[in-house]
Amino acid sequence: MTEHFQPGEEVVVRYITRIGSGVGMTWPFTVVRDDAALVALYIPAGSTFMRWDTSTRGRRQLVEGEWRRDVLRLMFPGKAYSIWLFWEGDGRPFTTYYVNFEEPFRRTVVGFDTNDHTLDIMVKPNLEWTWKDREDFEALVANGNFSGEFGASVEAAAAEVLGLIERRESPFGGLWHEWAPPADWSRPRLHPRWQEEPPVAWERRAWAYPLANSVG
Ligand SMILES: [Mg+2]
Repeated sequence: MTEHFQPGEEVVVRYITRIGSGVGMTWPFTVVRDDAALVALYIPAGSTFMRWDTSTRGRRQLVEGEWRRDVLRLMFPGKAYSIWLFWEGDGRPFTTYYVNFEEPFRRTVVGFDTNDHTLDIMVKPNLEWTWKDREDFEALVANGNFSGEFGASVEAAAAEVLGLIERRESPFGGLWHEWAPPADWSRPRLHPRWQEEPPVAWERRAWAYPLANSVG
């Protein structure tokens, strides 16, 4: 699937379960830009997204949640991370670059499929950075949910991003933090087929997630 979305179109980003067949957390976004180099998507605070509710013992289910901040999600074709910009609080100040390690995205007719890899980097506007959830990520490698080779590939992606930060390369130190949505954009809504549209599984999931059952 090579067709690109137009600015202003509404799409969904879905986390596809490690088994490759289930649709998990899902967010609606408005397309800012979609070309061969970059996919930029926007979700404002107050949008309705789907999150896991784990309050029922032994089973989790997807429920509606309210998104808390204005986020621009920058995704790069083939890259195992996305970089999110946060604006939050009174006056909508830019507060954070959030580096989310994740499966390289796949296109669907309703948007983009990926899944989270637990490790993140939080970067302040002055480019001071800290790891987030590094211990959880290392535990997933240690207990075999993530293969050693895959864990090393996430570390390599992290080293690549830290190089961008050090050299102040885009989007760090660029102009994206000054971006604001057009005044006439309303909150994006979940596509009616967000759950029905077949997931596009990551082709490397068996290599990355050796304990996930590949049947189904
Ligand atoms: Mg993450």
